[in-house]
Amino acid sequence: MFTEELNKTYRAMGIDQKILDYTQEIENKLNERFYHIDKIAELNQLKVLKAMQDNRLSDVHFSATTGYGYNDIGRDTLEQVYADIFHAEDALVRPQLMSGTHALTVALAGNLRPGDEILSPVGKPYDTLEGVIGITESKGSLAEYGITYSQVDLLPDGGFDLDGIKAVINSKTKLATIQRSKGYADRPTLSVAQIGELIKFIKAQKPDIICMVDNCYGEFVEVIEPTDVGADLCVGSLIKNPGGGIAPTGGYIVGKTEYVENAAYRLSAPGLGKEVGATLGLNAPLFQGLFLAPCVVSNAVKGAIYAANIYESLGYPVLPNGSEDRYDIIQAVTLKSAEAVIAFCEGIQAAAPVDSYVTPVPWGMPGYTCDVIMAAGAFVQGSSIELSADAPIKPPYTVFFQGGLTWYHAKYGILMSLQKMFEKGLVDI
Ligand SMILES: *Cc1c(COP(=O)(O)O)cnc(C)c1O
Repeated sequence: MFTEELNKTYRAMGIDQKILDYTQEIENKLNERFYHIDKIAELNQLKVLKAMQDNRLSDVHFSATTGYGYNDIGRDTLEQVYADIFHAEDALVRPQLMSGTHALTVALAGNLRPGDEILSPVGKPYDTLEGVIGITESKGSLAEYGITYSQVDLLPDGGFDLDGIKAVINSKTKLATIQRSKGYADRPTLSVAQIGELIKFIKAQKPDIICMVDNCYGEFVEVIEPTDVGADLCVGSLIKNPGGGIAPTGGYIVGKTEYVENAAYRLSAPGLGKEVGATLGLNAPLFQGLFLAPCVVSNAVKGAIYAANIYESLGYPVLPNGSEDRYDIIQAVTLKSAEAVIAFCEGIQAAAPVDSYVTPVPWGMPGYTCDVIMAAGAFVQGSSIELSADAPIKPPYTVFFQGGLTWYHAKYGILMSLQKMFEKGLVDI
């Protein structure tokens, strides 16, 4: 239905008929897969709705507080709703948590003391965490406060190195940081079930190790979250999945009361904790984004699966591949040349609702050893639940892309990425 009208519209919006014909066949084969994704979204939607109803969410919760923010019932209710969704004891959900990195920093710094050791049993953590922990020397790092770090890499097949983990756990090991998403690393994303097995193993060695999961990019991709399988803390960013594209800023920390409180004493001040923090009118978009998040995440997952299948069929290595189960929203495509990476990103940019007329170019971003290209035309700056792509300009020329508030926009972005490669003679269709 509407096939000809859609094709005509896509052609008018810059997509060649050859590309439409080629991709239509691939899309048709994804119906069953997409139905499965819809059912995950449906379960998560009900979970979010129930938490809002159970907490008697009402418009009094949408009013703004200023100054200290004492008695902000909207903020307190938002935190209870998060706690309920994650089946956790408590939550800290704040616009003052300014990014995922900040939320992770607050959770770590609040729960570690000099002499403690952090363990990463899943290899190198996300780039920005290297500075936080002090893996790379950095002013104000946890290392400067006498907190040490040990790391056990995943096995070549992506599995956990249980013997290695057992060997490094010692009397100082206080907290294990477990990153769910591969982020921009070359390793598989962990399923919540795998995280559960890992936590069980760690607790069997030393029951009082705090198991913290970096949940960035993972929320609502499955029907359970790491706190359902034993995580003591779960941390993420509101300009990724749980903000639903509506939250203008913020982060969350959910888990055991004691550990969430420790984080709150670090975010505000010892003795103040969760009691302070004006929300300045941001409760409404934080609730609304959370309400939309299950659906938005399912759209992003569909886009990732669609892209994997298209680029895989054209012979490019993709991670995850076209048929694997999904545990986060990130898709990596190895395009084999700088020209192809640039064309791909130009396509994502040209398909955006914001800044579609801008041409992204590679540049030497601070903190990177090579030029990096980034494509994003987002309503919220840096929001990566919105359709976005980035790639370091170096072999093997892999582009990482994620997001899409709607499946239709994600689809158009991917068609446009292929269009740009096609126009430059970089791909045969
Ligand atoms: C994005 C991300 C972070 C950091 O979040 P920012 O909001 O970019 O600071 C940390 N860990 C993972 C796995 C991420 O994907």
